[in-house]
Amino acid sequence: MAEILIENVSKSYVSKDGSVQALKNVNLAIESGDIFGIIGMSGAGKSTLVRCMNFLEVPTEGTVSIRGKALSDLSEKELRKEREKIGMIFQHFNLLMQKSVLENVCFPLYIQGKRKGEARKRALELLKIVGLEDKAKAYPAQLSGGQKQRVAIARALASDPKILLCDEATSALDPQTTSSILKLLEEINRNLHITIVIITHQMAVVREICTKVAILKDGEVVEKGSVEEIFNNP
Ligand code: ADP
Ligand code: ADP
Repeated sequence: MAEILIENVSKSYVSKDGSVQALKNVNLAIESGDIFGIIGMSGAGKSTLVRCMNFLEVPTEGTVSIRGKALSDLSEKELRKEREKIGMIFQHFNLLMQKSVLENVCFPLYIQGKRKGEARKRALELLKIVGLEDKAKAYPAQLSGGQKQRVAIARALASDPKILLCDEATSALDPQTTSSILKLLEEINRNLHITIVIITHQMAVVREICTKVAILKDGEVVEKGSVEEIFNNP
């Protein structure tokens, strides 16, 4: 059973300037354990597709299912629970600047109802996984871009997600830092058994770590398959 199954998904946005079809009949099966790349230029529909996976957007047509459950069949409560199992990281990290690294990672743990002591213990474990336990007391402004993204990854792991959605997560980083973040994502995929979806416009990112890839163009999947199949074509 696919971890994420996207079936015949179309999405139109209607505004006063008319209607835009951001996704056109998209079909994708993301299997458990995949590092799945979704690549395309600006405007291709990548963010729309991620928002559909994360239930922030309801497709105009078609179905999104997580482990066999169609999202449209879930109650609000069930949706919230499923959403908790999907971690997200972003291009601009989205950290709370007024809070320490430790408190940033504690934040989702407090929302889950964990007490301070318990949350801090877990947050320190998570910071160790991303190699930043020595920065627990620092503030985001004191960190490099790569370190900020590590904090964001630790925070995303706090709810023990089964899926990690990475939306242009390395686009603000230099090539060397990008590689170190991709290595960390690979370790997380392997050691914590988390399915990873990488949304990017950077071909190098897909080549470096993805096992499978779909190419989006003007809202349509124009190619999909293993990274070797797609990139080793003459
Ligand atoms: P990408 O992430 O690949 O840049 P998007 O999913 O953001 O692509 O956008 C796909 C298309 O949908 C674009 O033409 C964009 O202008 C349009 N679009 C995205 N979000 C909205 C919205 N909320 N309202 C209207 N049009 C939108
Ligand atoms: P920068 O943005 O300064 O280049 P990096 O993201 O490369 O930072 O690394 C941040 C910190 O994580 C560094 O202290 C580094 O030693 C440590 N680190 C790098 N790679 C790993 C890894 N795979 N596992 C654990 N810690 C790591």
